[in-house]
Amino acid sequence: MAKCSYCGKENPDQAEVCAGCGMALATTPDPQTAPTYSPLARKRIITGTLWLLGGLLVTGVTYSAAKSGGTYVLAWGAIAFGAVQLFQGLLGGRRPPRVENAGYDELEAATHLEAQGRIQDAAAAYKSIAERFASTPAGNDARKSLENLEARLK
Ligand SMILES: [Zn+2]
Repeated sequence: MAKCSYCGKENPDQAEVCAGCGMALATTPDPQTAPTYSPLARKRIITGTLWLLGGLLVTGVTYSAAKSGGTYVLAWGAIAFGAVQLFQGLLGGRRPPRVENAGYDELEAATHLEAQGRIQDAAAAYKSIAERFASTPAGNDARKSLENLEARLK
């Protein structure tokens, strides 16, 4: 059974429109085409939507009240905060992992090798990161770590 998200009426699975209200029934999203959002992005989208709607609601309610002589409040802060959160969530969720972040992940692994005393492995890892992420902060950090390591080995 497919429950109508609009009026709540149960409909046969193959139904395309709700027998109760005539709205199109939502089909299960295809997992391959549906955008995947990270938990942080999802949280931002939800928080952003709530702030945005809350801000618009306050603005709308006070605006109607103002027509009959009250004060009109534009909840601009809530709307702006909500919009920023929402867009960051939407953009961040679908953005592929950044090269710099990948560099830092590898750098962290290399630091672990060094901490475990696997100096040669760590040096090779730093060198590889410094070469492959040369133009990123992670690459610079790897190069410095390699220089420090070589200085200590002398
Ligand atoms: Zn319905």
